[in-house]
Amino acid sequence: MLRDSFGRVATDLRVSLTDKCNLRCTYCMPPEGLDWLPNAKLLTADEIVRLVTIGVERLGITEVRYTGGEPLLRRELPEIVARTAALRPRPQISLTTNGIGLARLAVPLAQTGLDRVNVSLDTLDPGTFKRLAHRDRHDDVIAGLAAAHDAGLRPVKVNAVLMRGVNDHEAVPLLRFCLEQGYELRFIEQMPLDAQHGWSRDGMVTADEILGLLSDAFDLTPDDLEERGSAPAERFLVDGGPARVGVIGSVTRPFCGACDRVRLTADGQVRNCLFAREESDLKTAMRAGASDDELTERWIAAVAGKRAGHGIDDPSFLQPSRPMSAIGG
Ligand code: SAM
Ligand code: SF4
Repeated sequence: MLRDSFGRVATDLRVSLTDKCNLRCTYCMPPEGLDWLPNAKLLTADEIVRLVTIGVERLGITEVRYTGGEPLLRRELPEIVARTAALRPRPQISLTTNGIGLARLAVPLAQTGLDRVNVSLDTLDPGTFKRLAHRDRHDDVIAGLAAAHDAGLRPVKVNAVLMRGVNDHEAVPLLRFCLEQGYELRFIEQMPLDAQHGWSRDGMVTADEILGLLSDAFDLTPDDLEERGSAPAERFLVDGGPARVGVIGSVTRPFCGACDRVRLTADGQVRNCLFAREESDLKTAMRAGASDDELTERWIAAVAGKRAGHGIDDPSFLQPSRPMSAIGG
């Protein structure tokens, strides 16, 4: 098992398949993009599957989420999903994506074993999308969402980050849209993870503010708060349910005490937290000939050293040197 010194057990593995992306969301990366990892540094599909297999078969991982960067840019994604679905015990397999390309890939991915998707959508307005993501691809995202729903990848979850003065007036319209379409919306507080270090506490729309905005239009009642467990979203029934909305207060309502996540970067580093300052280099060990036993030991040690919390409120907090797109969101 992947147990840390505070007794938390990691069962949810997030794997970044690439640091590259076809959008440039302001809260994530600068308009000019980043210095992408060279291909030789990226894990190959075989290396990814080898590490995921160790995670599932030896270390108790029960849920595998593929993310990035933009995971749909990785051509081998259907193959990686199929090989993950063949593992025993079979893990739950999910994908976090910006939705571009999902219109074409939703059915093949569902057929190869993908269980669920989270699609990021911050605005209903194509003009705002273009300002926020620096690309004119709003239609592709909407089409990708619909295709995921039609392919049975349900519940389709929508991730939205609100930014003050940019899209914070869209909290209610976004929820209305998701209710109409049968998607489950979750708002995520903006975290200090952008490559340009542009995050500020004042610019962040807090969970309290989001709930205030939604409560003007909807009747929200806490749902399964008792059973929140390790799930980061606090969920609310909308107008008595059954539809729900989630709010992830990563900064103001941290869930570190119940965290069950561990991450593998696109270049094969284990990170025990989004905000970790240390990584454990499984890729170099693997390429130097490490056995599965050795990789297992390294992975266990990497999780054992997980800190109690992200410490964003500590005066000593340092933003991680890698941006979210390189870590895997
Ligand atoms: N490209 C895919 C996407 O956008 O869904 C997957 C990777 S992205 C880094 C994963 C999630 O992280 C997205 O829902 C995105 O909105 C969110 N995200 C990125 N930067 C963030 C930040 N600074 N604070 C909060 N969420 C962020
Ligand atoms: Fe790309 Fe996702 Fe980052 Fe947006 S949030 S720039 S879609 S990796």
